[in-house]
Amino acid sequence: MLVQPFSCGAMQDDLTSTIACNLCGSTTVTVLSQRSRSGEPLRTVGCRSCGLVWSDPRPHAARQYYEDEYRIAYKGTFEPKPKHVHRAGQVALSRLEKIRSHLRPRMRVLDVGSGGGEFAYLLQKLGHDIQGIEPNRGYAGYATAQYGLNITRGFIGDATLPEGGFDLITIWHVLEHTEDPKSVLAQLGRALAPDGLLVVEVPNVEATCQTPSSSFHEAHLYTFNTVTLQAMAARLGLKTHAITLSDDGGNLTAVFRADPAASDSHLPLTDNHERIARSVARHTNLAHLLTAHPYRRFVGRLSRAVAEWIATRQLSSGRERLDRLYASAVEVKRPRRPDPSQSPLAG
Ligand SMILES: [Zn+2]
Repeated sequence: MLVQPFSCGAMQDDLTSTIACNLCGSTTVTVLSQRSRSGEPLRTVGCRSCGLVWSDPRPHAARQYYEDEYRIAYKGTFEPKPKHVHRAGQVALSRLEKIRSHLRPRMRVLDVGSGGGEFAYLLQKLGHDIQGIEPNRGYAGYATAQYGLNITRGFIGDATLPEGGFDLITIWHVLEHTEDPKSVLAQLGRALAPDGLLVVEVPNVEATCQTPSSSFHEAHLYTFNTVTLQAMAARLGLKTHAITLSDDGGNLTAVFRADPAASDSHLPLTDNHERIARSVARHTNLAHLLTAHPYRRFVGRLSRAVAEWIATRQLSSGRERLDRLYASAVEVKRPRRPDPSQSPLAG
């Protein structure tokens, strides 16, 4: 049976949320969805004033969930398995490509939500001075033991960060899991060096690459679009340096720079809720089946499973796997020796 969890936001009556909007403080919302991707009841609401989307009420006690249960619920494991290391290593390489043009030699980097340490290890191999923070004890311990990384176990909101202490801060797919994203962004902004960069990647609430029934789930307490993410950053003195959508539209990646003159006045905040509600309402099962997304995803998963099986059947440790996977990305391009026959002095 096709599950149809959405109703048109424009037809919903305004309701009051039990949680005030983390971006603008309003409590007037409409309901965008009543079910999570696992089919459980999950009320997802959108702010009428600015378009920020969140789960109301919160679906779980966030702390214990992320310390122990999250990785098990997501991946059925407490430490990354070989296929997870391989997959996360490939994701780390794609993240490197997204930020490579912003890298300078020997940067002081903080990776928030460092998971199994794959991205942090890649930057360490590239010569950067990297620290990670990760609440899950199994993954944080694995990253330290496998790669010798400097990982603090805990939640970013509890961490004391050195003011102006980092040239680059990356927070990949973490902000949507936090209970107070605005205060996390503010905290990271304060930890940026004067010319430092903050890279934030989150799922895009307007995405249509996933099946409609998997748009919202318990792990994501907030969901952004390009407008709400930039507006939240701007109100904290973080100016957008670059913002891009992934090829399938599923993720948005923003690069911010501290700038007291940052402003959200150019962003279409007043129309944003209607825009998101319309996009959610139009994303029906039929509309989805008529796109290439489901078929591309099926082929992608199949080829990924084969590639992971080939890549992981021989190597034993996570480190060996990543060293092989990262070899070409971290290879030092040595200057070529001059060819003596091309010398003007050659006889
Ligand atoms: Zn709002």
